[in-house]
Amino acid sequence: MIPGTFDYHRPTTVESAVALLEQLGEDARPLAGGHSLIPLMKTRLAAPEHLVDLSAIEGLRHVEVVGADVVIGAMTTQYSVITSALLAELVPILRETALVIADPQIRYKGTIGGNCANGDPGNDMPALMQCLGASYELTGTGGTRQVPSRDFYLGAYETALAPGEILTAIRIPIPPAGHGYGYEKLKRKVGDYATAAAAVVITMASGTCTSASIGLTNVSETPLWAAEAARILVGSTLDASTVNSAVAAAEAITNPASDMRGPAEYRTKMAGIMLRRALERARVRATV
Ligand SMILES: Cc1cc2nc3c(=O)[nH]c(=O)nc-3n(C[C@H](O)[C@H](O)[C@H](O)COP(=O)(O)OP(=O)(O)OC[C@H]3O[C@@H](n4cnc5c(N)ncnc54)[C@H](O)[C@@H]3O)c2cc1C
Repeated sequence: MIPGTFDYHRPTTVESAVALLEQLGEDARPLAGGHSLIPLMKTRLAAPEHLVDLSAIEGLRHVEVVGADVVIGAMTTQYSVITSALLAELVPILRETALVIADPQIRYKGTIGGNCANGDPGNDMPALMQCLGASYELTGTGGTRQVPSRDFYLGAYETALAPGEILTAIRIPIPPAGHGYGYEKLKRKVGDYATAAAAVVITMASGTCTSASIGLTNVSETPLWAAEAARILVGSTLDASTVNSAVAAAEAITNPASDMRGPAEYRTKMAGIMLRRALERARVRATV
């Protein structure tokens, strides 16, 4: 319950935040909504000597359309994601996903950037970002680079973030109008991380699936982009045998932990079932 002692910093610009992080090195951690980091500090699984609070930095909370993308500032809270009319119109799966993350209090504080940068396979946004083909804007003292979400997750709590870098924004290509989508999450109760979850975005034309993308949550050390499963769906009418093949391909790439959410075999099967349900919802929603 009691974290170790630390120094607290509250920079007001990205430049000063990254300069501080570089100067303080491994002993410093960015603080966003605090709803993963502070629980870890309370159990002393994390004991940073410096917290660099990002909350006073202007310009990290925007949601805007830039060209063919929607760009979301890293410090945008889950609550703001849920209540954004722009996001509901353009990328409605974000709202559907945010609504099954944690609980209202956590969603008031927890940020989309913290969820994506954290590196916990239990987080829901990372597989969704992979499904959407999002890229992350990472800023360090040396400048800014874009890293595709599909390349960002290297292992549990291991990401492509270099020391001293912060995630400043998430760039999501706006899915075509009339796309179908679904985020299905199996969890034991409100606020639980997924036993398994699946994100699906598809487009349909005259009853045929013309594009598909699938992300899987918490069934491996990292979020998973199920590229082969999606490829199987494209060009089909989403008939039962094609869906069965896609589900088998998705299950084949899972490697879940056996834990209090159940044995690995069960969680793999649940990933398949979540995929079937998310796909069915997406099919119904897609304007054919
Ligand atoms: C009871 C409970 C239930 C929860 N249930 C769920 C759930 O069902 N699904 C889910 O997805 N999450 C869940 N969460 C986690 C919650 O959504 C967190 O808010 C989220 O994981 C982290 O976001 P944050 O803004 O709170 O980040 P913080 O806790 O502040 O930071 C998390 C980590 O990311 C780093 N970080 C944060 N922002 C940045 C940045 N911009 N750049 C670089 N590094 C950064 C921090 O240094 C830290 O290492 C739950 C949390 C709790 C306490």
